Amino acid sequence: METAENHDEGRKFFAKPCNFVKGVVALSELPDDDRPEIAFVGRSNVGKSTLINALLGRKDLARTSNTPGRTQELNFFDLDGQIYIVDLPGYGFAKVSKDKVKKWTQLMKSYLKGRPTLRGVFILVDSRHGLKPSDSEMMSLLDEAAVPYRIIFTKSDKIKSEQAETVTKKSKETLQSHAAAFPDTLMTSAAKGQGLDELKSYIHTIVQ
Ligand code: GDP
Repeated sequence: METAENHDEGRKFFAKPCNFVKGVVALSELPDDDRPEIAFVGRSNVGKSTLINALLGRKDLARTSNTPGRTQELNFFDLDGQIYIVDLPGYGFAKVSKDKVKKWTQLMKSYLKGRPTLRGVFILVDSRHGLKPSDSEMMSLLDEAAVPYRIIFTKSDKIKSEQAETVTKKSKETLQSHAAAFPDTLMTSAAKGQGLDELKSYIHTIVQ
């Protein structure tokens, strides 16, 4: 149950200091798995960096996909020494060589399948577009790896409430056949702050 009280705890948790730890390009570089971890994935341009920055109350801690370099790495952020927040490379991009895409898709898959402290993955989906085939691939991978995940819709300020209802309903139907999926989706807007408290509180709960 979402209550004002646990929203408060989630808000407090995310108000703690957060720092960039490292960008990982090989499994051997992963930080020690000594604390709970959550990860964000999604198609390129879905609003992943913007949402992570909004959650952490920072302007540019997570870099947008327009920034070359760091967006091709698994980026680890340390929240108050308590959890790692991992920003994974966006998928579905066009401008990068196939070899590179293959390399970091492999890295991302190995990470998602083998990280013992990974408590949950958030698949960000543009609320205007709904679930795409690349999102379904990610869902199947996480089902196989038995890593719990939740669909988070982004940019809700760009759609009308009827559209939001339609995309939510359709996605929930799809989620029923996915073993590791949280049955409820969440509508967010980093621009307007919608859904951020719910997301903070949910993350706080799953890392406890
Ligand atoms: P990423 O590639 O997934 O990290 O996406 P970005 O965070 O770089 O965002 C992609 C674009 O979407 C940028 O132009 C953002 O300003 C825009 N964007 C991100 N979040 C929101 C939002 O909540 N509302 C609106 N209207 N635009 C957003």
